[in-house]
Amino acid sequence: MKFGTRLLHNGNEIDPITGAASIPLYQASTFHQADIDSPGEFDYARSGNPTRRALEQTIAELEGGAGGSAFSSGMAAISSVFFLFSSGDHLVVSNDLYGGTFRVLTQVLPRMGIESSFVDTTDLAQVEAAIRPNTKALYIETPSNPTLKVTDLRGAAAIARDHGLLTIVDNTFMTPCYQRPLELGADIVVHSATKFIGGHSDVVSGLVVAREKETAERISGLQNALGSILGVQDSWLTMRGLKTLKARMDASTASAAKIAKGLKQIPGVERVFYTGLPEHPGHALQSSQASAHGAVLSFDLGSGKKVREVLSQVRIPIVAVSLGSVESILSYPARMSHAAMPKEEREARGVADGLLRLSVGLEDAEDILHDLEQSIEGRRLYSVGVEWRASII
Ligand SMILES: *Cc1c(COP(=O)(O)O)cnc(C)c1O
Repeated sequence: MKFGTRLLHNGNEIDPITGAASIPLYQASTFHQADIDSPGEFDYARSGNPTRRALEQTIAELEGGAGGSAFSSGMAAISSVFFLFSSGDHLVVSNDLYGGTFRVLTQVLPRMGIESSFVDTTDLAQVEAAIRPNTKALYIETPSNPTLKVTDLRGAAAIARDHGLLTIVDNTFMTPCYQRPLELGADIVVHSATKFIGGHSDVVSGLVVAREKETAERISGLQNALGSILGVQDSWLTMRGLKTLKARMDASTASAAKIAKGLKQIPGVERVFYTGLPEHPGHALQSSQASAHGAVLSFDLGSGKKVREVLSQVRIPIVAVSLGSVESILSYPARMSHAAMPKEEREARGVADGLLRLSVGLEDAEDILHDLEQSIEGRRLYSVGVEWRASII
């Protein structure tokens, strides 16, 4: 069966007790043990809950792994995976990295004796050169945020395998709808399901899937030990979001392609970063390892002053951190995701003062483009009916 069908028919969509077509909210922390010598599958909800289990089995099936675990956020998922490592271990990590992951790797793990080297993983020679005798894993984000640099997942996983390292991939931007790292040789996939998987800006959630049963069991053991579980309501919301993942991703991706092309024509837009544009340096590689280019793009307006003008003018995208929702979201990396990074380091990564990131939602692509065009050109020809928003904040 194809992905769109498996999203809805994967064996975890119907409540096995009642036949309900939506897995119920099993709002229970503990479970009666009819026989204390052989308790049932569930005993205490930190260790397992039927609603959360349905989500965990679904994501494992969609990523093609042996087991999944659901966490209270993307960062809880990622941090729990890092607990696989011990004092004295070393990790090789993409230098274009989600800020929260960078913070854990640089401020928390070193206190526990776990060190990381940050390299440009789009250059596999740099990956190989950074490996030390105590290196235990390679951690990759591709396409990266916000300039969408693409790392060769097959090549990176092959290097990791040769050196006995785990390959961990943050698949938040692509989701299993477009990219399945485990099929390309990775060992562990992590997600902020707050983004495309949840898809409606209404839940904070994280997911992990491992290719091998033993790794999946170690991760669910850590989830239970650390207690970083996803709650029942949020498991339900994440599953509900997942059902429409393909429909949302396909619609938003088609719009992103139109908007990326359209932005290039607008005077004042100095550069557009989108892997779907043939001139993007990662275009061919992305096409070889993912089935589409996704719904996130970024563009450079040349200065922080211009960015402020545009952000005060736009009416369709909300101006916010986060991405991957039904509504378009415009973010300013220099002040949001990369605010903690020194200016030189930030600019060296292509995150200039004029760069904006757009996560394309489900609004009409022409409306989004018109809104951006009018905001960039500083003229507003027609109202899009959401003028009230300017006065809320
Ligand atoms: C948002 C995000 C995270 C962190 O997830 P939370 O759900 O916010 O904890 C990790 N990686 C990427 C790529 C993200 O976009």
